[in-house]
Amino acid sequence: MNHQTKSKIRRKALSLLEAQGISSAPVPVERIAKALGANLRFSPLDDELSGMVYVKDGTPIVGVNALHHPNRQRFTIAHELGHLQLHRTEITKEIHVDKGFPMLMRNTVSAEGVNEMEIEANLFAAELLMPESFLAASLDGEPFDIDDEGAVSTLAKQYKVSASAMRFRLGNLFA
Ligand SMILES: [Zn+2]
Repeated sequence: MNHQTKSKIRRKALSLLEAQGISSAPVPVERIAKALGANLRFSPLDDELSGMVYVKDGTPIVGVNALHHPNRQRFTIAHELGHLQLHRTEITKEIHVDKGFPMLMRNTVSAEGVNEMEIEANLFAAELLMPESFLAASLDGEPFDIDDEGAVSTLAKQYKVSASAMRFRLGNLFA
């Protein structure tokens, strides 16, 4: 993903937070979904399915696996909102189904459009749920050790994200 795409994604996430007057964690992702006119549906799905998104007659529908941990559901919603904000044309043509997330694919370069979309939606989700300015305020200039499991887990709880999502984000931003 080039620098331009990255900053476009960041701007889109930040403008949603600003529009909703959200300035601290945890980010109320369901409220943002509603503000975007998205219809959230929680249903029990197979474990490997995280969620899905499509636009039907102009209304975005976001499906979430109701059996997953609430923090994972929040990431799923944020990821699907990323598709909605970034890939609306693609998800209007057909239902987009997410099987897990390639969270740890940071070194994987793929020419395949689908994977590019997933990486973009994941970045959007991270920018929405764990904005850099929020994290900088949380860390308050203190040195942070990414290998400190306790510290990562405390931040993850505060942001209502999984510890692995938080570790990945902190690694991307500050390591
Ligand atoms: Zn996806």
